[in-house]
Amino acid sequence: MTKWAYSFRQGEAEGAASMRELLGGKGAGLAEMARLGLPVPPGFTLTTEVCSYFYAHDKTLPPDLGEQLDSALAKVGAVAGHGFDDADWPLLVSVRSGGRASMPGMMDTVLNLGLNDRTVGALARKCGDERFAFDCYRRFIEMYSSVVLGVEHHEFEEALDAFKERRGLTLDAHLDASDWQAVVALYKDIVAHHKGADFPQDPRAQLMGAIKAVFRSWMNPRALVYRELHNIPADWGTAVNVQAMVFGNMDDSSATGVAFSRNPSTGAREFYGEFLINAQGEDVVAGMRTPQPISEAARIAGKSEAISLEKAMPAVYAQFKSYAEKLEAHYRDMQDMEFTVERGKLWMLQTRGGKRTAPAALKIAVDMANEGIITREDAIARIDPASLDQLLHPTLDPEAKRAILTSGLPASPGAAYGEIVFDTQEAVALANEGRKVILVRVETSPEDIAGMHAAEGILTARGGMTSHAAVVARGMGKPCVTSAVGLRVDYEDQSLSVMGRRFAKGEMITLDGSAGHVIAGAVKMQRPELTGEFAVLMGWADAARRLKVRANAETPADARAARNFGAEGIGLARTEHMFFEGERIVAVREMILADNTEGRRAALAKLLPMQRDDFKELFEIMAGLPVTIRLLDPPLHEFLPHSDAEIASVASAMGADPAKLRKRAQELSEFNPMLGFRGVRLAVAFPEIVDMQARAIFEAAIAAAMETGKAAQIEIMVPLVFACAELDFVKARIEETARAVEEETGIRPGYHLGTMIELPRAALRAGDIARTAEFLSFGTNDLTQTALGISRDDASAFLGTYRSKGILPADPFVTIDQEGVGELVAIGCWRAREARQDIGLGVCGEHGGDPASIAFFDKAGVDYVSCSPFRVPIARLAAAQAALGRYASEGTA
Ligand code: ADP
Ligand code: MG
Ligand code: MG
Repeated sequence: MTKWAYSFRQGEAEGAASMRELLGGKGAGLAEMARLGLPVPPGFTLTTEVCSYFYAHDKTLPPDLGEQLDSALAKVGAVAGHGFDDADWPLLVSVRSGGRASMPGMMDTVLNLGLNDRTVGALARKCGDERFAFDCYRRFIEMYSSVVLGVEHHEFEEALDAFKERRGLTLDAHLDASDWQAVVALYKDIVAHHKGADFPQDPRAQLMGAIKAVFRSWMNPRALVYRELHNIPADWGTAVNVQAMVFGNMDDSSATGVAFSRNPSTGAREFYGEFLINAQGEDVVAGMRTPQPISEAARIAGKSEAISLEKAMPAVYAQFKSYAEKLEAHYRDMQDMEFTVERGKLWMLQTRGGKRTAPAALKIAVDMANEGIITREDAIARIDPASLDQLLHPTLDPEAKRAILTSGLPASPGAAYGEIVFDTQEAVALANEGRKVILVRVETSPEDIAGMHAAEGILTARGGMTSHAAVVARGMGKPCVTSAVGLRVDYEDQSLSVMGRRFAKGEMITLDGSAGHVIAGAVKMQRPELTGEFAVLMGWADAARRLKVRANAETPADARAARNFGAEGIGLARTEHMFFEGERIVAVREMILADNTEGRRAALAKLLPMQRDDFKELFEIMAGLPVTIRLLDPPLHEFLPHSDAEIASVASAMGADPAKLRKRAQELSEFNPMLGFRGVRLAVAFPEIVDMQARAIFEAAIAAAMETGKAAQIEIMVPLVFACAELDFVKARIEETARAVEEETGIRPGYHLGTMIELPRAALRAGDIARTAEFLSFGTNDLTQTALGISRDDASAFLGTYRSKGILPADPFVTIDQEGVGELVAIGCWRAREARQDIGLGVCGEHGGDPASIAFFDKAGVDYVSCSPFRVPIARLAAAQAALGRYASEGTA
């Protein structure tokens, strides 16, 4: 026989905290509190297995449930001292849903179940308030009818309005007992009219109806959406909790409220919460009355005039505080508790791990480890690495008002406001005047880098999470929203329009890059401090992790940020990114468009000193830490001039005929640039590019070492290799340059040569490649593109559909596709190590900053991950969790 119902009462329970899967979070919490001897109104939990049965059997309940239900009800009655059919003081119960994971708003709780034409009188006598009893009854009819019977709320609201109009009353408070009695009659008519049957009078029938409604609600659209968003499996099911009612609304010695064992916003160790005297259920959160603070300290801090629980009911306060401490110590986590006081007696109605802000989570974890409540490993495991983002970027002040215009993709986290500008030059000019600007583009290109740098944030009408705008913004640590819905950008008119509103250049907007919101006006910001706890926790994480963490950085600002965030070197410096700015792009274009070696050499000669300066600064900032420099890998189309003005400027720099240049640019334009003339292919065809870059690197390293006294750790990385022969060719050129530099300076530059693994063939041939390569770095962005045959710039057209149809579990450009791309990484690591035991193995795609991917890379045995500077702390923490095999999960009831 299956046990469907688990009873609990103060002092004993059939369930326990460990039975969360079976009893749901709320049921397990009630059982545990009962076991701990806390005052819990008696009740029972119908298990999630009843829910599974319900769906497996055409929405029917198990035949033997009725019997178990009756005996559980009888136990409740025995403890409470009255049953459903007690004429003087009938039992009333609450019926509450409660799954394994908290799902707010899934089903409204039904309170006061058991009221009917007869028991309403008993309630009136018990409370000495007839008006209150009938008000409760009409609320119960309305709640029960909408939740259980499917009669819509507005039916009741309209009837009540009409009634008030007839009686010439405006406020609910003006209705007296006989009015509410009349309303109850009207409500019952509505039910009879809609259902063709009377409102159920039998409490047992009411209860069965409510139980079924809870189970049905598991599949309602709100619940489906919530589960989808939070990755909660549909087969978990919900439990149902039936519990004797206690009344916080009986009189002025009664109250109801919620409290946290620590402050959920700051994490401070203080008892924190709100309550209302003479109130029931959701009144505290409903916002009809302003709740009062629990403690005197909070009242004083909040400058509240309202009387605190500590002052109003000192004994209850002391008792409640001791329960909060007991529960926190027992669960070893901050608790969120619901309580009710009925005529001076305290009852506990719920406890669960409290939701908290990222700074609070950090403080609580570190404090609890220091207090000896949890271990340092526990503290590391408790913080969701992704939540650190909130600590590193400015965020919108949660108190601030905001008018959201539209939403797009949350392409780069953080928040910013500024004047709207539509072009790069203007962004730079205004920023130089000290003004804050938001760069708004249809989409961005390398031309816009300077403007993106100057802007506080970037908004685009098109582009995905890995579009140019998104990737560059994340690298810069600037908020960015891409693919904003309904956003139209009119460059001509210098305005944007969205949702029927027009904004001209210079008007203020705010971006929330974490939520993907575009907001009118300037919303107040807050920059969370990198508090002491942050550094402490990161220190613990560093001690626990195996994986090293480097940063993808090429600008001095990024390199400095990377070191601030604890990067242990640069894992990827994209040299073409150094060419995006100002006059450099002209020289790069010159080089690309030159139709002979001489022309190319001339352009390269202009670039050499710029490159050397850039590298020197990087080496100085990284002061002896490894710096991986990738040789030029421009996807050509990103650099080709398009407009007449662009062509003219390159032509004048080269002293060439614009018409000829245009023709050359057309020749070079490719059908499929991603798979075109780029990477090592450029180096093989035009080895003078390698010569220039190697020289710049060596000369910079020598100069930097002279200045800092620390030898630069050079790693030269060759992109897009698929065979060892390509690498051998490049190696010969680099060696030649090294010898030349040695001859000129007398110093032999030390360096390591390696490749980026971005093609499936390269991963498979990692064994050969490792004969020449001293390190391999998996460029998992391109490896994902080439392994799946999906262009990430075009993926947004179908990836969403793939995900919603369950074909892909996650966006493979965000979280590594373990089975395919991941296997290529694993094979590559394994074959490379076979060939060269001490080979260095890294990952430098966007996945290097994704916690789930980092867990995989840790197992695959790579030595380091490299990610954008702002993700370095996230990667450090994720690497520690991977090493410990313990991951943050939201544990709430
Ligand atoms: P949620 O999951 O949204 O917190 P709950 O099921 O906990 O919903 O209940 C909603 C409200 O009803 C809460 O304020 C709770 O304290 C109150 N409540 C639930 N059961 C009882 C009861 N037996 N007696 C008094 N109040 C109750
Ligand atoms: Mg609720
Ligand atoms: Mg609750």
